[in-house]
Amino acid sequence: LKDFDVKNEPILGYKKGSTERNELVKALEEAKSNVADCPIIIGGEEFRTNDVRYQVMPHDHKHQIARFYYADANLIQKAINKSIEMQPKWDRTPLKERVEIWDRAASLMANKYRQKLNAATMLGQSKTAIQAEIDSAAELIDFIRFNVFFLKENAKYQPISEDIKVTKNSVRFRGIDGFVAAISPFNFTAIGGNLSYTPALVGNSVLWKPSDTAVLSNWTIYEIMREAGVPEGVVNFIPADGPIFGDTITKSKYLGGINFTGSVPTFNRLWRQVGENIENYINYPKLIGECGGKNYHFVHPSADIETVVTATIRSAFEYCGQKCSACSRAYIPESLWPKIKEGLLHERAKLKVGDVTDFSTFMGAVIDEKAFNRIKSYIDYAKSSNNLEIIGGGGYDNSKGYFIEPTIVQTKDPKDKIMIEEIFGPVLTIYVYADKDLDSTMKLVGNSTQFALTGAVFSTNESFLKRALEEFKMTAGNFYINDKSTGSVVGQQPFGGSRMSGTNDKAGGPHYAIRWTTIQSIKETF
Ligand code: GLU
Repeated sequence: LKDFDVKNEPILGYKKGSTERNELVKALEEAKSNVADCPIIIGGEEFRTNDVRYQVMPHDHKHQIARFYYADANLIQKAINKSIEMQPKWDRTPLKERVEIWDRAASLMANKYRQKLNAATMLGQSKTAIQAEIDSAAELIDFIRFNVFFLKENAKYQPISEDIKVTKNSVRFRGIDGFVAAISPFNFTAIGGNLSYTPALVGNSVLWKPSDTAVLSNWTIYEIMREAGVPEGVVNFIPADGPIFGDTITKSKYLGGINFTGSVPTFNRLWRQVGENIENYINYPKLIGECGGKNYHFVHPSADIETVVTATIRSAFEYCGQKCSACSRAYIPESLWPKIKEGLLHERAKLKVGDVTDFSTFMGAVIDEKAFNRIKSYIDYAKSSNNLEIIGGGGYDNSKGYFIEPTIVQTKDPKDKIMIEEIFGPVLTIYVYADKDLDSTMKLVGNSTQFALTGAVFSTNESFLKRALEEFKMTAGNFYINDKSTGSVVGQQPFGGSRMSGTNDKAGGPHYAIRWTTIQSIKETF
């Protein structure tokens, strides 16, 4: 392997008049004036079924931007056959060659296709330019570069050989016999890339089912992989109905693993199906999943108010609260509440909601009708409950796009369902605790939800922070001190949670890629 200069991809600023802004505007116009055709791809062959679907722009839902086709069970089976035929050949391709392919893909993403990816992410998933840039440019590229780097680092480990003249011990990595299914979400284009290309990079063949609401950006990644030279059949592009896809892959004896990001019920269903078919498989399938959260900001009476306000607004409302890591419950001491409340309401009122192609917009629309209705039902519930008061926002309108105002709710009951259930939208609930109840409120943080994805604590008191580090150990896979609960960076804060938030395999961390390998130990005797 050649030496890798492993640095995070710089994030561009998109200032008025900048080259990147001009290029992006052009890419947006092009994507908007076109309905991209995104066929199913199996072993390099294109398929278009009669089950035609469209991806629309969430902030203007009459406007279609991509046409795609659901694969039926037969086509999914065909993709499985193609994958298992391809896998041994691909696995024998030297790692150096595989790395070169993805190295090329990363360069194409960073340069030639950066704005095409960002435009697809902005229009299809309703992200602002900066939210797209940190996702479909920086993180997408970082996942490739860091996974290659970590793979190389892991390959350095070789077991002890006590007397090299007598025996030599070694280990080697290879892909899993069979195929890996990647089931990716809408909220990060980069996750679609990572879930599919990282298992492929280490020697697996993959069936990639993108989210219906992220097809265009995911298809763009797929085309880049082909241009970079990923051989046909190594990654297959399979939009499909979720349950049909799940049923077909879990019934195949060649299922080597599922790389999943999505909801708890869907991941549970996949586990159950794998359980039902367990006698059938040639391997125990590896199941890796990232599911969700009910992420918290916990504020100590010693906290810096401005830091709390800025971090909480950004974490709760950037990308409409649709990051798995978004803060949706906050615990604030009574002594700081008047000032924090004033700050939150002041900042909230400034947030512009609207079309993401307007560079002054802070928040676009939520992803689709289903999300709109779910989030709306929590807002309506807050409006009707005696325990809850909407202190900011609370409006919604889906006539043109699925718009929901950034909403702040105050609750009298820290165990109200709005403090427990994942909403996945721009709704932040605040529980104001009496300063004397600090200890019991800290206990609530970990005990009241089934999740443990992200959390943040705000304090300027060293000894309290030490205590919080201990007491909040089990409450979050990603824990932040005096910073927002979102925005993990590949290679800097490996991302993932435990409990029902997922299997905590830490995307962007050193152990992620090797989870997709299977390892052979070799003892040579001379
Ligand atoms: N890594 C992202 C963050 O820290 C969240 C990823 C996700 O939503 O799954 O904000």
